[in-house]
Amino acid sequence: MPWLMAATVFSPRQFRLGDGPAIAGVEEASLNPIYKNIGESIFARMSGLAVKHDAVNLGQGFPDFGWPDAILDAAAQAVKEKSNQYAPAPGLPELRQAVADHYNRHFGQTLEASLICVTSGATEALASCILATVTLGDEVIIFTPAYDSYAPMIRRAGGIPVEIALQPSQWRIEREALSAVITPKTRAILFNNPQNPTGRLFDRQELQVVADAAIEHDLVVIADEVWEHVLMDGQRFTPLATLPGMAERTLKIGSAGKIFSLTGWKIGWIAGAPELAALVTKAHQFLTFSSAPNLQWAVAFGMAEGDAWIEPMQHRFARARDRMIAALRAAGFFTLPAASTYFLCVDLKASGIAIGDLSFASQAVEKAGIAVVPLSVFYECNAPSHLVRLCFGKRDETIDAGVAAMAKARDLFTR
Ligand code: PMP
Ligand code: GLN
Repeated sequence: MPWLMAATVFSPRQFRLGDGPAIAGVEEASLNPIYKNIGESIFARMSGLAVKHDAVNLGQGFPDFGWPDAILDAAAQAVKEKSNQYAPAPGLPELRQAVADHYNRHFGQTLEASLICVTSGATEALASCILATVTLGDEVIIFTPAYDSYAPMIRRAGGIPVEIALQPSQWRIEREALSAVITPKTRAILFNNPQNPTGRLFDRQELQVVADAAIEHDLVVIADEVWEHVLMDGQRFTPLATLPGMAERTLKIGSAGKIFSLTGWKIGWIAGAPELAALVTKAHQFLTFSSAPNLQWAVAFGMAEGDAWIEPMQHRFARARDRMIAALRAAGFFTLPAASTYFLCVDLKASGIAIGDLSFASQAVEKAGIAVVPLSVFYECNAPSHLVRLCFGKRDETIDAGVAAMAKARDLFTR
């Protein structure tokens, strides 16, 4: 791949300086405008407001049930009995092997342990993949609404995020839309499937659209597949790397946080062909070098022994989703289809609420005691402003309290 050879020097002057607040005693030129001009993440902001207003938190995505006791025991035992010193930078050999075996077993892949790099969650995996593949002026295609770290991280690497704004309620990837944004500067596609925040599992035809474009234009695809096991209604997941011609150009990202409902553990990984895997491991070594060894041991145990946990988890999430949707509909809300991830979208306009998603989110948490996430923040432009995301991976009592607060918000905003 010729782009692997391209060496460039990063120049912060390439970026537009915004109008963020001055920081006393620090020269404007010494601040990176990317961080100077963005605020706290929407997840942190909504969780902070939920605490401040004692609201039900259906905003930031984390389940309040569902983690297997056996993996917690494995972690506790590893803290006591295994090394607590630096793990090898690409990860414990046992975890790398367990991840490779897991994918070979579940999806018929032929991965070897040497192709896996363990990271501090998928967020670091994303950063490593982007830093390893994007150089100054490269264009990276993202499908919005997209996870919040994508665009800032692409910019920080010197790249330019090129948005394909998917539209509700189908959220479909169209071949023409993708072809239309590819230029000689396009270097990569950052593709999230199943997609957060829409809850969409893209179908085989859409995967082929992405694969065809990548092959035709010699692009790398960073495939954020962290939600691969959080599927409902009997859906089956296909890793992008298993499509013909894709294994050699795909960097696949996974996360134990999602597979085992342990979002705070922040153990993730990247799987890629030898050349790509070696490259991202070099980026990773200067980001975090390595992650907590005891959690790596426990995740290795889960990846090797935990296949039987997956289906019950999917059923519990499906039950939680059905409960939330039934209650929301009974309260007059219109919901979009949701069959992967533990998120669903509420259509405010169709629910009779005339205010936009940002106003709804900021007022609902304060006045009705419910934290949600506005969808428009996940777009660069062309954002629909009538949708909010709710996390349904919650116990019955959390769901009931959350929907009661949503009903209160609806009363306030439809008057
Ligand atoms: N990518 C997507 C699409 C996600 O939804 C998330 C977390 N919700 C992440 C990456 C980050 O995962 P981690 O917590 O493992 O860093
Ligand atoms: N990914 C989680 C979500 O979508 C939040 C992750 C975070 O807070 N950084 O809600």
